[in-house]
Amino acid sequence: MRVLLVLVVLVTLVPTRGVGAQSPHPAPALKTRNVFLVMLDGLRWQEVFSGADEALISKENHVADADAVKRTYWRDTPEERRAVLMPFFWTTIASQGQVFGNRYKASEADVTNGIGVSYPGYAETLCGFAEPAIKGNSKVWNPNPTVLEWLHGQPEFRGRVAAFGAWDMFSYIFNTERCEFPVDNGCGPITCGKLTPVIETMNRVRAETPYRWGGAAFDSMVFIPAMEWIRANKPRAVFLGLGETDEWGHECRYGDYLNAATRADRYLQELWTTIQSIPEYADQTSLIVCPDHGRGDVRGPEPAQAHRDWCNHGPRHPGSDAIWIAVLGPDTPALGERMNCPRVTQSQVASTLAALLGKDFQVAEPRAGAVLPWVVHPQK
Ligand SMILES: [Zn+2]
Repeated sequence: MRVLLVLVVLVTLVPTRGVGAQSPHPAPALKTRNVFLVMLDGLRWQEVFSGADEALISKENHVADADAVKRTYWRDTPEERRAVLMPFFWTTIASQGQVFGNRYKASEADVTNGIGVSYPGYAETLCGFAEPAIKGNSKVWNPNPTVLEWLHGQPEFRGRVAAFGAWDMFSYIFNTERCEFPVDNGCGPITCGKLTPVIETMNRVRAETPYRWGGAAFDSMVFIPAMEWIRANKPRAVFLGLGETDEWGHECRYGDYLNAATRADRYLQELWTTIQSIPEYADQTSLIVCPDHGRGDVRGPEPAQAHRDWCNHGPRHPGSDAIWIAVLGPDTPALGERMNCPRVTQSQVASTLAALLGKDFQVAEPRAGAVLPWVVHPQK
């Protein structure tokens, strides 16, 4: 009986590399035909898994009304706090999909580029490996094709790939000199594809609204037109990059950072609800969500440093390599919050995205990390 049970578990959980080629029992086909990768810049695993940190709800972190912020985000247990901070993430993604990275439960998700800033993190996530030539956020064209560019080179994805991100660096990260699919970096107008009155209005709002952070737009400026563009153009592989969590973080504004996380969670909910309401997407679309890097986590004897280190990230801020990765969709078993599992890395996201579509990215890019364990498996 025990042997039979083990066999059943193995057959049920074996990943889908080389689907059914020589197998006497061919695996059922994957349902995923579309993939959305949403990245929330610099949102720490600490808040994702434990919610607001009471020690950071303070004047040092520009919280003017600590009582009000605590009423909104503070609860007695980590489970309650994270559910109030990111309700969609915890009621839907974590219960129907999988979430890696809760270090308190022996689930470690890491950046491997050793730098822990944005461009190296986006490049590692999208290309599948840490590129030594990308050392920081300098405006250099990404020398390597992203998994989206690779998909776009295949006939069934030609003209069906798009990227939207609240940062002018996304033009360099996706390499718009080479990639041939539309990349909206949140700064200029959206001009590609089928446009609608909402997109035209948002183009005007963008042009007439000052930018608080130079080349980085507010998330709403990107999310609202991106959703409209998605409904009008039905792309099959989409990147969406939201940046406010990082921007408010750098300003050491903890209340605004929490608000940005909650807003991003509402956007994820709106995206997923929209996906399930459109026949071309419903029940055949997978979603991956992750950050580009962690942030500082100093809890040393020096209170001032402990209160401020979360604001920054990079080689001088221990903890910046600690991230989280979530996957939801028709081909991902509902294993929920992953615990006691092998370490996973940011470099596994690109192969996982391809595998959800039944494709092997490592054939094209042998440096890419392996598909995340137990994440891609056809469901009944
Ligand atoms: Zn940053």
